[in-house]
Amino acid sequence: MTEPKKLFVKTYGCQMNVYDSQRMQDVLAPLGYQSVDSAEGADMVILNTCHIREKAAEKVFSDLGRVRKHKEAKEANGGEKMIVAVAGCVAQAEGAELMKREPMVDMVFGPQTYHRLPEMVARANRAIGRNRIIDTDFPAEEKFDHLPQQVSSQGYSAFLAIQEGCDKFCTFCVVPYTRGAEYSRPGADVIREARQLVAHGTRELTLLGQNVNAYHGEAPNGGEWTLGRLLRELAEIDGLDRIRYTTSHPRDVDDDLISAHRDIKKLMPFLHLPVQAGGDRVLQAMNRKHTNADYREIAKRLKDACPDLALSSDFIVGFPGESDKDFEDTMDIVRDITFIQAFSFKYSPRPGTPASAMEMQVPEKVKTERIMRLQVLLAEQQLAFNRNSVGKEMDVLLERRGKYEGQLVGKSPYMQPVHVSGLPETALGSIVRLKITEALPNSLGGELVDATKNDQKSERNVA
Ligand code: SAM
Ligand code: SF4
Repeated sequence: MTEPKKLFVKTYGCQMNVYDSQRMQDVLAPLGYQSVDSAEGADMVILNTCHIREKAAEKVFSDLGRVRKHKEAKEANGGEKMIVAVAGCVAQAEGAELMKREPMVDMVFGPQTYHRLPEMVARANRAIGRNRIIDTDFPAEEKFDHLPQQVSSQGYSAFLAIQEGCDKFCTFCVVPYTRGAEYSRPGADVIREARQLVAHGTRELTLLGQNVNAYHGEAPNGGEWTLGRLLRELAEIDGLDRIRYTTSHPRDVDDDLISAHRDIKKLMPFLHLPVQAGGDRVLQAMNRKHTNADYREIAKRLKDACPDLALSSDFIVGFPGESDKDFEDTMDIVRDITFIQAFSFKYSPRPGTPASAMEMQVPEKVKTERIMRLQVLLAEQQLAFNRNSVGKEMDVLLERRGKYEGQLVGKSPYMQPVHVSGLPETALGSIVRLKITEALPNSLGGELVDATKNDQKSERNVA
């Protein structure tokens, strides 16, 4: 039997990249590649990159320096080849430049081409000369059609990409340029993949898309499914207990989706719904296509439909032209709506996007002051929500061992990590009812309430 080849994949950025990395591993498994957790000695290294902010892109170049040393060591030592590949959004946006700047990179491929990896690997491995490969074609349809029909196990909580690309063209964002036009996978394909994941032990599914609630996939019997309809279909799958979706755009929250939050028990009462900013002038310059008042209205309708629902959000501070008053509007909307988690960023000009050429760029010092104030407020809201959980009972999906002996860690409906002690490891994969006894800024502690309220799957393990 031939030795498996070692594959090291490093993932940067969003959950979509996490999903893509998993699928790359599925594509390469039939070629004998098995994942390892270090680049040292690997036969192939893939950096699956993110281009959303300058820092994310720069990190790739510094990591390539480290990979170069491993490649030189491997190739000097007996001459075995290490294929170094850069994938994802940096590859898509800066492919040719990257090849020039990093002569040791063998392969550069964009997010829509990794179904062609076997062919690229064969070309890179050809003995004569050195074949450098660059593939940054677009259509997402083709990729999903050609990926393996079988997905591998992804654990108790898994990602499933249902939509890719974006047609919104927010003026700060590279996604429409790196991921291409919006594309929704047919409903039947999504259901098939969800069933496979559940058969492998998945109990919680997070549907992914750059703009996931713009989903409009072909329905099995003709016509189209919206995200609301797809959620209803997925909720019928036995063994699938929790459903989430991310990332949503406020503009695409429709009545159907709001009623899904009212009706579907398996749909978790937690929604990531980026607002980005509170000032209407800024929202307009961002081309967000919603106002401050629109966002407030959507949040209210969602909370009316599902009173337990809590929101998280993304924020950008220091967008070109953002005045003190605009920033205060951001602080106000945060105070009024309250977010239980959030990501906040200083605006980072991205080459080729309209905002990078706008006048009135905000000085770095002002961006820093604003983000610090915003993050203090967001951290207070997160801690207040966590503290408010103390004394309540929550269903927690136990996912992994904790740091301490005898401790397990799970996830609450609101994505808070919850620690619990005294349960056997066979409880991993089960959903247990815990009483929350402790709140920290980023996690909770709990204890088992009553064994009769827990599900019957404590012996269940991932296949
Ligand atoms: N599709 C999502 C939406 O509509 O909000 C966002 C996708 S993006 C991968 C994740 C977040 O990165 C954005 O919500 C935004 O807050 C942030 N982001 C995107 N471009 C940025 C930029 N140029 N500077 C700073 N933050 C940025
Ligand atoms: Fe980027 Fe999201 Fe705007 Fe699309 S909707 S352009 S992904 S921020």
